[in-house]
Amino acid sequence: MSTTFDKIVSSIRDHYNEPEEFIPLHAPTFEGNEGKYVLEAISSTFVSSVGKFVNEFEDRICSYTGAKFAVATVNGTAGLHMALLVAGVKRGDLVITQPLSFIATCNAISYLGAEPIFVDIDDDTLGLSPEKTRKFLELNCKVKGHSCIHVASGRKIAACVPMHTFGHPVHLCDLVDVCEEFCIPLVEDAAESIGSLYYGKHTGTFGLLGVFSFNGNKTITCGGGGVIVTNDAKLAKLAKHLTTQAKIPHAWKFTHDQIGYNYRLPNLNAAMACAQLEMLDRLLSNKRMLAMEYMDLFQKLNLQFVCEPQGAHSNYWLNSVLFKNREERDSFLMYSNDKRVMTRPVWDLMTELAMFKDCIRMDISSAKLIADRLVNLPSSPIIK
Ligand SMILES: *Cc1c(COP(=O)(O)O)cnc(C)c1O
Repeated sequence: MSTTFDKIVSSIRDHYNEPEEFIPLHAPTFEGNEGKYVLEAISSTFVSSVGKFVNEFEDRICSYTGAKFAVATVNGTAGLHMALLVAGVKRGDLVITQPLSFIATCNAISYLGAEPIFVDIDDDTLGLSPEKTRKFLELNCKVKGHSCIHVASGRKIAACVPMHTFGHPVHLCDLVDVCEEFCIPLVEDAAESIGSLYYGKHTGTFGLLGVFSFNGNKTITCGGGGVIVTNDAKLAKLAKHLTTQAKIPHAWKFTHDQIGYNYRLPNLNAAMACAQLEMLDRLLSNKRMLAMEYMDLFQKLNLQFVCEPQGAHSNYWLNSVLFKNREERDSFLMYSNDKRVMTRPVWDLMTELAMFKDCIRMDISSAKLIADRLVNLPSSPIIK
């Protein structure tokens, strides 16, 4: 195995033309107008929650993704919190999601006093399985009026939140169908999947709402930031209102009509976000080349590389490979990190965390198998 491990590590070093230095998992690149726009924001004195770049960023997100409306937020987690709130999630409700995700998905659900229900992932997408979701709903839930009720607890299934793991879209068309049939609002955690398409349409735009993140480790970044996208004018308006302290617009009066949040993206970050969006297509094609190199390499080494699913065009945010078992995975993690090539296992499953261990769950054997075997590989784009 150690010759296999060595081949992987040296291929990564070759790709980055970096024989000795530390190689990170995903480093941002700032080769565009980032500095220029940020300085422009500073010169304008509008660095905070009001400024031209925030609106500009929202417009650019709409034209890039094809969504009708966009609402910029301080980060993706805040975006998810607000998206779920405007989708109608309330205290005591249940929200379907996957056990394999970054903690932010379940945290956002919890901020509203709702609880996740864990349904397994598909092996090809690493995200929420539409078939298993349907099976859970058929066995456990009933539609009453326009709500889906979990029969045993009498609680409402207020939303379904798939996550497009490492940028690979879940089977969105099937999931949209299931959610429509059971009257469940679909809110996509598209934090990792900016630029990923499913049958030609952007992730984040299939659900009632979708949320992207621009944290430092994502495909593009503005330091910290997020955006909610939707085609629903009323929900967009409400999201904008709630993220700006629920202040009634007025020339001088401070009137607020409900509990709001200070969640609007600062103009300084939005300036950077605009510049990063200009670079996105170049970054994506460079990342795709790297993914193809990994694909070739792992084919030769007889290891399973995680490829974009049928019908999808992934952004390949983080490349990943599956080892035969947990032991082999751990040996590789040890080997590569020791050689200063950064690799990581996937997150602990949400079902294993103290906060969520008692939540309702279906059979999650696919998620368990993936969590045992998967390793994320260096995936930074090279743009000079
Ligand atoms: C990054 C991420 C988020 C949250 O993004 P922040 O901008 O860091 O708050 C949410 N969900 C998933 C799956 C993520 O990977």
